[in-house]
Amino acid sequence: MTELTRRGALAATAAATLSPLAGTIPAKAAAPLSGQQAPGFYRFKVGSYECTVLLDGVRPVKLDNSPIRNANLDEVKSVLTASHLPTDQLRFYFHPMVVNTGAKLVLIDSGNGPGSRQTGTGRLPDNLTAAGIDPKTIDVVIISHFHGDHISGLRTADGALAFANAEIMVPAKEWAFWSDEGAASRAPQGQQATFQNTKRIFGPIADKISKYEWGKELVPGITARDTNGHTPGHTSFLIASGSGSVMYQADVTAGYAPLQFHNPSWLVGGDMDGNQAVETRRKLYDQLAADKMMVSGYHIPFPSLGYIEKAGTGYRFIPASWNPVL
Ligand SMILES: [Zn+2]
Repeated sequence: MTELTRRGALAATAAATLSPLAGTIPAKAAAPLSGQQAPGFYRFKVGSYECTVLLDGVRPVKLDNSPIRNANLDEVKSVLTASHLPTDQLRFYFHPMVVNTGAKLVLIDSGNGPGSRQTGTGRLPDNLTAAGIDPKTIDVVIISHFHGDHISGLRTADGALAFANAEIMVPAKEWAFWSDEGAASRAPQGQQATFQNTKRIFGPIADKISKYEWGKELVPGITARDTNGHTPGHTSFLIASGSGSVMYQADVTAGYAPLQFHNPSWLVGGDMDGNQAVETRRKLYDQLAADKMMVSGYHIPFPSLGYIEKAGTGYRFIPASWNPVL
């Protein structure tokens, strides 16, 4: 057996250089580097439904402070090290999803919007195009909650509706909270941007928005599930067709999702009701682990699809393997 060593590799290169064929193939040493990653979308089937995970972008954030409210930077870095991830920055992923039920084309969540492009996000329109999906053909947009990274993509740079022909469905509880002027006046500084953004996105179309209740089937095969805690109306979606199913968990783990898989009691800035967020997380993940149900999440690294297992006092995410069969 040949030993793979640097010396062996150098010897092989030298032998190739001396080969009688050397000089007959044009040299390509000056080929430019691409500098571009592949488009960000991934398809999979759930029964007869075709689902497409779409990357809205990846935002790198320098890790100067702990992104976890109740853990220090060293604790966070030790989890990253154990996961073979860089410890000088976090990469935040954002994933809306399109579900083609055969009768309806449904978009779940809408990305960071055009105002965020310089931070590496707002790429949903590009990846819809790459996936061959025309925004005008979207029939329904279902929103999980009102944080800006989930609703700002509903409007284009000139303020028009990005999905001009779509019915927009939002959680009734989320609507009640973020459109309450009294709640806005009492809210801490950190929530003010969400109140203002809610007004900007939904204000002019308030009477056209459909408000849904938990437990209801919003579109055949897509059912709203109460996963509040991250926000008062935070919702996940069970997508089911035939014997297939996947849970779109939105932000049950938020921010850099793998940190909260590892330690479910860790809280990110956006987890509004910390105790409820942790209770929701454990309840959902215990069920997904027991049922061996596939899960996709807004902030789970691309292509945001896999399974959850119990591990120690927390959970482990097992990515689904890339499947060429649809
Ligand atoms: Zn989010």
